[in-house]
Amino acid sequence: MQILKFHIKKNDLVMILNGKEKGKSGRVLKVLPEKEKVIIEKINFIKKHTRPHGQQRRGGILEKEAPLHISNVGLLCEKCNRPVRIGHRMVEGGKKVRFCRKCGEIFDK
Ligand SMILES: [Zn+2]
Repeated sequence: MQILKFHIKKNDLVMILNGKEKGKSGRVLKVLPEKEKVIIEKINFIKKHTRPHGQQRRGGILEKEAPLHISNVGLLCEKCNRPVRIGHRMVEGGKKVRFCRKCGEIFDK
C-alpha cells in the first residue's frame, strides 16, 4: 500500500496557488487524504440549494467550503509571508517536524 505523504495538516495556514481563489490564504479545516484534497476556511465557497423538507417551510441557499486539490495549495510561512518549500527534519526526542526551507521557521511546534 502506498503511503500518502502530505505536507499539509489540519490548522495549517495555506495559500491558494491556482484557480479562482489564487492568492488567498486561509486555515485548513480538514484534510481528505483519500481524495488528496483539503478544505480551507472561507475559501472556495459553493452554493448549495437546499430543498424544503419536514418542518422547514422553505428551502434556501447554503454556502459551504468545497475541497481543493492539495496540489493547488501551498503551506504559508508566516515569517516569509508567502508559500514556501517545506523540508523535514528530526528534532530532539525523535519527532519529525516541518520547516521552511527559506527562513528555517519550524511549523510543528
Ligand atoms: Zn519562512
